[in-house]
Amino acid sequence: MAKKELLKQLPSVDEALKGHQGHVWLDQHARPHVVAAIREAIDGRRKSIIEGKSTEASLESLIPDIGAVLKSKSSLSLKKVINATGIVVHTNLGRSPLAASAMDNIVNVARGYSNLEYDLSEGKRGKRHSHIRRLIRETTGAEDGIAVNNNAAAVLIALSALARGREVIVSRGELVEIGGSFRVPAVMNESGAILKEVGTTNRTHPHDYEKAITENTALILKVHQSNYRIRGFTSEVDISGMAGIGRRHNIPVMFDMGSGCLIDLKKYGIHEEPTVSDAINAGADIVTFSGDKLLGGPQAGIIAGAKTYIETISKHPLARALRIDKLTLAALESTLMAYADPDKAVDAIPTLKMLLAKPEDIQARAKKLGSLIKKKSGANVKAEVVEDFGYSGGGALPDMKIKTCAVSVLIEGLTPNAIEERLRLSEPAVIGRIKDGMMLLDCRTINDSEMDAVAGIVAAVVRK
Ligand SMILES: *Cc1c(COP(=O)(O)O)cnc(C)c1O
Repeated sequence: MAKKELLKQLPSVDEALKGHQGHVWLDQHARPHVVAAIREAIDGRRKSIIEGKSTEASLESLIPDIGAVLKSKSSLSLKKVINATGIVVHTNLGRSPLAASAMDNIVNVARGYSNLEYDLSEGKRGKRHSHIRRLIRETTGAEDGIAVNNNAAAVLIALSALARGREVIVSRGELVEIGGSFRVPAVMNESGAILKEVGTTNRTHPHDYEKAITENTALILKVHQSNYRIRGFTSEVDISGMAGIGRRHNIPVMFDMGSGCLIDLKKYGIHEEPTVSDAINAGADIVTFSGDKLLGGPQAGIIAGAKTYIETISKHPLARALRIDKLTLAALESTLMAYADPDKAVDAIPTLKMLLAKPEDIQARAKKLGSLIKKKSGANVKAEVVEDFGYSGGGALPDMKIKTCAVSVLIEGLTPNAIEERLRLSEPAVIGRIKDGMMLLDCRTINDSEMDAVAGIVAAVVRK
C-alpha cells in the first residue's frame, strides 16, 4: 500500500478513545494522559510510516504503543529502587531507609490530624520543636536542641542567627565542599557572617585561632572533613582544644559534625566516628548534624547545644523558612526514640544494621542470592559470590574500607555495562556497581525481602 493510503488509514484520537480499549484506559487513567498518549503514539506511527519503517496503520496495531506511552505518563517519577551498590548512606539513592517504627509513625500522623503545634495538656497553642527536644537532649547530652530541613539549613541558620555581620574563625583545612553544592565559604557568605580563615591546608595550631580573635569574633567553627582526609604532615586542633580557646575568650564554639553518630560504635567494631555527645562533652557549644546519614532517620538537620544559642536560633526569621514538616518530625521522633537502647537501635535502624552487618552474614546472603539467580535464570547466567570492600557513604568513615560480599553476574552475550544498564532500567531498578570488569550486586545493602525480586529481575534481563 502506498504511504499516502496508509497515513489516511491512521485512526483519529477520537476513534481510539471510543473503542473498547479506549474505555478501559479512561477508566484507569486520567483523561488528559490518555489523550496525550494516543496522540503521541499516532504521531510516532505516522513518522515511522513516512520513513518506511512501518506498514501498519490500524487502531489494533497501535494499542501496544499507546499502552506503553500511557504507562510511562502515568507512572510516578520518584520510585523505589534496589540498592546493590553496597554504599549504605547513598545520597543519590535517598540516603537512609527508615526504621519500621518511623514509617508507622509517618502513616499515623499523615492519615489525620496531630498535636503538631498544640499543647494537649494546656489546650492551647504549642511548639513544633517540643516533640523532639527531650530526645535530642537525651541522645546528645546537650542542654537543648531543634531540628530544621537538613544539615545545610542547620549550619546556615546557626551562622545567620549567631554571627551575621561578624567574624567566624575556621581552619583552612576545614573549608570543605560536601557533594551537592554545600561549600563552607559559600554558606558562610549566604549567612552574612564573615569568614576568617586561619592556619594552612594541612596544619592549624591553637595559636592560629587565638591570634585571629578580635572583638568582632562571633564564633569559632569546626567542620568535619566528611568525605576527605589530609594525610602526612598534618595537625589540627580538636574540638576540646577549640572549646578551651572559646572559653578563655568567651566565644562560642560550633561543630558541624556532618554525619551525626549518636552511639559509640567502638563496641561494634567501628572506631573512626566520634559521637555527638563526645563533642558536647568536649565542650562544643553548638553541634549540627544530618538526620539521614549515620543517624539513619529522615532528611533533617539537628542543632544541639546550649539553651541560650538554641533559643536565639529558633527565634531567627529563617526558622520558619527552614522548619521541619510534620511527616519528617514523626519519623525523626521515632528514630531518636529507637536510640534509647543502643543494642536495639543497631538492629531496628536499617542504616546501622547494614553498616554493622557481619561479613559472614553478608556472605550467606550473597550465596542465597547467587543460587536464586541460577535457579531462575538457567544455564547462560553465571552468578558467583565474590568478596570485596565497600564504604559507608554519606561523608562518614571515608577511610574505612568495610569487608563485604557481592554476587558477580555474567550473562552470555552481554557486556557488564549492558547488564548494568538493563538492571538499572528494570522495574524496580537494581543499581549495582562495576568493578574489574564484573557486574556486582553487593549484598550489604540488598535486604532479605528484596532477594527474590533481584533474582527475578536478573532472569527477566536474560530473557530480553
Ligand atoms: C553532609 C554534610 C553537610 C550537609 O548536610 P545535609 O544534611 O546533606 O544538608 C554539611 N556539613 C557536613 C560536614 C556534612 O558532612
